Amino acid sequence: MVWLALAVMTALMPKGTSVAGTAPSSAAEVLGGMVDNVVAAVALPGVAVVVLGIVGAVLNSRDVRRRDLIRRFTRQQHREGMARAGGQCEMESGFGRRCRRPAEHGDHFYPWSKGGSTSLQNFVAACAQCNRTKRARIPSPSQQQRMERRRRDYVAPSSSVSVGERQPLS
Ligand SMILES: [Zn+2]
Repeated sequence: MVWLALAVMTALMPKGTSVAGTAPSSAAEVLGGMVDNVVAAVALPGVAVVVLGIVGAVLNSRDVRRRDLIRRFTRQQHREGMARAGGQCEMESGFGRRCRRPAEHGDHFYPWSKGGSTSLQNFVAACAQCNRTKRARIPSPSQQQRMERRRRDYVAPSSSVSVGERQPLS
């Protein structure tokens, strides 16, 4: 008799709770819900990583498609770029002021790896230290404006102060 009563109770219990509301009506559903939550917790960051990966790959392939076939500046470009800078580093050294060190490298203002052109327009003279810290970051529009403003002070009137050039998407 006791086991029969228990069987009836267990048979009725889930019905009672499922009628009562939205609470999970059985252990299996509770477990199922937990599994769903775990799956969601694992899958969502996974999906986010995959999406970010795809976005990154697309952006990177666009950069690669932009790349200038020529990476190295010609001697002529190097000479003209260095002369335009008066042999001094053109990069920024705090408070928007120009770096005081002598220029040692010809650098792509827009990084070559990001589609920056190997042109005099995209050439900046840089000291070794600024060249290292700049790496392959795309300069912000305000960095570009500040560079052009600084250039007005030292670039010969015959040459342009504008800086930065990117290859079109081919
Ligand atoms: Zn410098």
